[in-house]
Amino acid sequence: MSSFGIPTRHDHERPRLAIIGGSGMCTFPELTELCRVRPVTKSGLPSGDIKICRYEGQIVAFLPRHGENHSIAPHKVPYKANLAALRDLGVETVVATCIAGSLKEEIPPGSFVIPDQFVNLTWGRDDYCEADEGKFIHLPMAEPYCAITRRAIAEAVLACGIVPVVNATVTVIQGPRFSTKAESQMFIRNGWDIVNMTQYPECYFARELGLCYGVLSAITDYDVGVASCLSMSPEHMKDVLSIFRDNIVKTKKILLHLLKQSTVASIECSCSREIVRTYYEQE
Ligand SMILES: [Zn+2]
Repeated sequence: MSSFGIPTRHDHERPRLAIIGGSGMCTFPELTELCRVRPVTKSGLPSGDIKICRYEGQIVAFLPRHGENHSIAPHKVPYKANLAALRDLGVETVVATCIAGSLKEEIPPGSFVIPDQFVNLTWGRDDYCEADEGKFIHLPMAEPYCAITRRAIAEAVLACGIVPVVNATVTVIQGPRFSTKAESQMFIRNGWDIVNMTQYPECYFARELGLCYGVLSAITDYDVGVASCLSMSPEHMKDVLSIFRDNIVKTKKILLHLLKQSTVASIECSCSREIVRTYYEQE
């Protein structure tokens, strides 16, 4: 076994790309599983086993954010350990999926959004940096997402005949409850686009650990503050769940397209590593 717990015969097949599966994406049987690992990081264990898989000749790591049985709530996800474990496996690029609510009528349920900004409204999550004891980083966060990874995701969405929403701001709430109308209306007044529970601190830790990161957000409903809402209310639940299931099918199709794209295999972006390196050089 290697130091990462991967059988030695796969040592030459490091995954450069990882997929973090969000709600509805706890398994990805379309990928051919080679082996499973659950590395112990100095931040603890990841959400579950990381599957090292092959698809179309490409080696990819797959990690369900909420565990294989969707048993880990958004505020309890071991975000730092998840990203550290993927980095330790040799991953350089992370493509995550998540579900989100829309804050704008022009982003209807069934849309796919690739955010470029987040607003963090969570609290109490372990979001301190991983630097060695006695050190800390004032990490630049003006552009939290990797532009190259976002573009690759957008191209995969387009290849599936869907026009994605890009340059969107996701506000991240604590959960696991949904917003009140007053909270939702505050988000809308601020001009934010979608609302989610997991983008922080996941996106931040990817930056800090030198990983290029982008997320594909599938819109399941309108948040409750949107006037013409198809929201998570009892009378709309059946329709919302139908959209949720349809989104999962499309999300998998998009990810499989992404894995086929030569651009993904050859992503040579190092934006996150450059930010961290520049910081340390200036110390
Ligand atoms: Zn990048």
